[in-house]
Amino acid sequence: MGTRWQTIALTSKKKTDLLDITEAVSGACQKAGATEGLVVVYCPHTTAGVLIQEAEPGLLRDLEGWLSRVVPPDEAYHHNRIDDNAASHLRAVLSGASVVVPLRGGRPALGTWQRVLFVELDGPRERGVHVGVIA
Ligand code: ZN
Repeated sequence: MGTRWQTIALTSKKKTDLLDITEAVSGACQKAGATEGLVVVYCPHTTAGVLIQEAEPGLLRDLEGWLSRVVPPDEAYHHNRIDDNAASHLRAVLSGASVVVPLRGGRPALGTWQRVLFVELDGPRERGVHVGVIA
């Protein structure tokens, strides 16, 4: 059993930007060369996250709207006294920092409609996610 880590570089284009990174994660699995195991996708940022969801454009807009309703941008957040992005951090809590996908036959065993999404919550920025293939 060993782990091969790779980093996927990302560029977000908007304050809130949902990027479908499924193909890049699949590519990292192919490069790792393993067939059976686990794939970990880890986001090393406090104002971004990763999640697994359908990438239908209407649903992505719904997800953005839901995040801004659950965590409104204009509350009197304490963190905004030192860094004007408390809502971005709190929305990242909803997303989470990692996902785990089974590796089967050398590919991430996602369901038919499942995609791996990078959730930018304080863009635009240069970002990265770590992909670990454990086999
Ligand atoms: Zn901050």
